[in-house]
Amino acid sequence: MEKYIVGCDIGGTWVRVAICKLSLRNEDIIVKKERTLKEDENSISKQICKLLNLLIKEKDLKEEQILGIGLASAGPLDINKGIVFNNANLGFKEIPLKEPIKKIFPEIPLYLINDCNAAVLGVHFFEADNDEKDNIAYITMSTGIGGGVICNGNLILGKDGNASEIGHMILEPNSINKCNCGAYGCWEVFSSGTGIRNRTLDAIKEGKLNFEKLLRLVDNNLSQITAKEVFEAARQNDELSLKIIEKCILFAKIGIGSVNNFYDCKSIYFGGALMENSEQIINPLQEQFKSDPIKFTINRPPILKISKFKSEIGIKGALAYIKYKLEKNGVVAFCTE
Ligand SMILES: [Zn+2]
Repeated sequence: MEKYIVGCDIGGTWVRVAICKLSLRNEDIIVKKERTLKEDENSISKQICKLLNLLIKEKDLKEEQILGIGLASAGPLDINKGIVFNNANLGFKEIPLKEPIKKIFPEIPLYLINDCNAAVLGVHFFEADNDEKDNIAYITMSTGIGGGVICNGNLILGKDGNASEIGHMILEPNSINKCNCGAYGCWEVFSSGTGIRNRTLDAIKEGKLNFEKLLRLVDNNLSQITAKEVFEAARQNDELSLKIIEKCILFAKIGIGSVNNFYDCKSIYFGGALMENSEQIINPLQEQFKSDPIKFTINRPPILKISKFKSEIGIKGALAYIKYKLEKNGVVAFCTE
């Protein structure tokens, strides 16, 4: 009987469940996705069980053919308790994941991991070259900023599974700009999608810079402004938008330079919605690391790459995680949960 593995990816907008043969060939992965249900604390676990049951039915599988479930979720997590807590986008103080799914699928081993830590495993399995894969980071620049790091061939997890929360490094401690996490002046306050939108609205309120081109892009409706329009207006030389993107990039240089200082990465892969504007973000970073890296990183600069799997890298990572766990791959050797 053919053996299968399951991956789940839980985000603020989408829940994805995927199934694949243990060999984990990209072309064999089948994904089902739905908008994340937020009716109560148990909506998400129910949704995952429903989608998984659909896949099992479609593939005409028996439960014993499934060797394990890799469950990747936006954090913060307590991987020992199997819960997500204090996540602003998922809507509840505590969301139990492990226990309710275990109740429905008691015989299937299940492991929980932070979504960006999963994503770096996805990069490790599906796209990194052999000469770089032991020292890579994955950085998502999206609604927020998150990261996952493999250093010396080991995934870095931390005590609760929340290592590499790089988006919350505080780059402007005296900032009046509050982050979702409760702190002020975090990196993602300036360089994430939400951050870019909020800083743009602040600057408009301040009223010092011209933003005619941005205004035209949203038909004079300020509520329509998202990071996408700000990047677009910056390409058209809109004065205010250029200022906002300039700061986004300056802080990205500091953030990414720091990640390289801490982990001495061979390559850093990027994902997340802001990569739609990758030439405006990655090109200046590359230029900086080529011409004058020392201003931002003391270590030899990393190669910067964009993950080709875009929004699917999390679910691929969840599958890679369960495969590595089952095969006792050294990269997850310290994942004790
Ligand atoms: Zn923060």
